Amino acid sequence: MCDDKRIAIVGGGPVGLTTALTLSRRGVPCVVYEAAGEIAKEQRGAAFHPPTLEIFQRLGIESSLMKMGLRIPVWQMRDRADGVYAEFDLGTLAEITNFPFRYHLPQHYLSSLLLDTLKDDPNVELRFRSTVTSVKNEDKTAVLTIATADGERIVRSPWVVGSDGAHSKVRKTAGFDFEGFTWKEKFLVTNVEYPLEKLGYTGTAYVSDPENWAVVLKLYDDTKEHLWRIAMPADLDAPDDVLLQAEAVQARLSKTLGTDMEYPVTYSGTYRIHQRVADTFFKGRVTLAGDAAHINNPIGGFGLNGGVHDAFNLANKLADVWLGLSGEEALELYSRQRRTVAVEVVQKNSIRNKQAMEERDPDVRRRNQDAMRALSRDPVKVREFLLDSSMISSVRRAAEIS
Ligand SMILES: Cc1cc2nc3c(=O)[nH]c(=O)nc-3n(C[C@H](O)[C@H](O)[C@H](O)COP(=O)(O)OP(=O)(O)OC[C@H]3O[C@@H](n4cnc5c(N)ncnc54)[C@H](O)[C@@H]3O)c2cc1C
Repeated sequence: MCDDKRIAIVGGGPVGLTTALTLSRRGVPCVVYEAAGEIAKEQRGAAFHPPTLEIFQRLGIESSLMKMGLRIPVWQMRDRADGVYAEFDLGTLAEITNFPFRYHLPQHYLSSLLLDTLKDDPNVELRFRSTVTSVKNEDKTAVLTIATADGERIVRSPWVVGSDGAHSKVRKTAGFDFEGFTWKEKFLVTNVEYPLEKLGYTGTAYVSDPENWAVVLKLYDDTKEHLWRIAMPADLDAPDDVLLQAEAVQARLSKTLGTDMEYPVTYSGTYRIHQRVADTFFKGRVTLAGDAAHINNPIGGFGLNGGVHDAFNLANKLADVWLGLSGEEALELYSRQRRTVAVEVVQKNSIRNKQAMEERDPDVRRRNQDAMRALSRDPVKVREFLLDSSMISSVRRAAEIS
């Protein structure tokens, strides 16, 4: 027997909070268990694709979101030595989406907005400093063990959403597999306060090079006008204190951006990158969404966006089940739809993007770049390519799966 009839959401990141808001909009009560004492403010995902903005529009928060952030219609593919070889304008999708641009906004701004929207919502209880240590399926309930400052609590819930990130306790303790691999390098991420427009960058650029490839993004920050992120590869075995020394960071920036100038660095850090997908996103009474269900390298900006797409899809199906409008097969369908897209689109494209940027063979690199240059001049191919890279195709593909 459930002692709490509400849906339990584990993890109050962008995916857990989007799930809570979607459930609430459908009139379904839920409780969010979040291990931390507040919303994470780390430097993480910072770019939203059109279908993600459409979801926030349907949830009624897009106008608040649009008061922050940067609209980036044009993005580039560059060779580190030779410069731009292809440029794409999302404006060409204006008749397909209300949001024909990438929207750059660090994810903690989204989380803070979601939190503000939810804090007085009678359908949603937010429980901070509540760490879920295990979830077990038992007959028709899920049993959650939760560590709090007042000791351990056991709660039986009808349904659980594991949105507790890449190291998900829900995934590990409820018996899901997480197959895939870890890349042989980590990411060195820097934020610099300098107008890279001066060097010809549009708001997003993917820079190819065998050694010094990079992702270059203009960041929104409410206190700084010119903030850019440069993410570069680093040796997995190199200690962080060596990689993050100020001179070492400057040397990498100079090599990557091809100048001798000293960049004002406001942040630097490293993180490991993986490609993994859970064996299923639904087992018994437990579902997975976001990084708990799938992780990938950030080239293309699919991780955070895909997680929000999971959240909206899952919460609507969970609402149908909770309201008695559908049976559990709706959750099987969620798993089939979103897992298929995670494997066929997100994993495939993020791996392909990384391999293209770091290609070592000069002939292959040249051929790849010539092909992209030709594609960027063919309006029919550009449209198809932008539908894929902006994740519009992936949402359509998921909806086709029945
Ligand atoms: C350094 C870094 C840079 C990134 N850069 C990009 C990028 O440029 N583009 C992009 O698209 N993606 C990027 N990502 C990925 C992106 O941040 C994630 O895809 C996104 O945060 C997923 O959201 P989530 O809500 O699923 O998980 P998270 O944001 O990880 O949120 C999980 C939440 O669960 C909580 N939690 C964890 N364990 C428990 C527990 N046991 N009990 C209760 N609560 C728990 C955590 O405190 C956290 O609040 C990056 C990730 C990292 C780490």
